[in-house]
Amino acid sequence: MQDCLFCKIVNKEIPSEKIYETEHIYAFMDINPLADGHCLFIPKKHAKTLHDTPDTALADILIAIKKVVQVLDIKDYNILQNNGIIAHQAVFHAHWHLIPKPNKNEGLSILWNPRSSDRQEEIASIIREKLSPTK
Ligand SMILES: [Zn+2]
Repeated sequence: MQDCLFCKIVNKEIPSEKIYETEHIYAFMDINPLADGHCLFIPKKHAKTLHDTPDTALADILIAIKKVVQVLDIKDYNILQNNGIIAHQAVFHAHWHLIPKPNKNEGLSILWNPRSSDRQEEIASIIREKLSPTK
């Protein structure tokens, strides 16, 4: 996509600190890191969200994240992947953050507000029905 920041990074129109790539994905250091080693993994082909991303890229991204975690020997870390404005997606080219959590003050902070739901069973039933292999 022409005006997409991450497409421009993939196409080398904008410089980045590359760390890894495959046929399907590109990985580079985040320019506004939450901790040392914070990096990003993106599909090379433009995709707006996780569910738009081809399976080949999805597979490569998780494997690449695992490799980088092992290379850096990180024990505590978060994988963050946001889809949609309300869900805090800021660049509309799907991306996965690998954010090391070296201590309580650095890395990703999460506000987690659990609440009751009377729809979980119903939603589970819908998912099972739609994903049933007999269909
Ligand atoms: Zn893009």
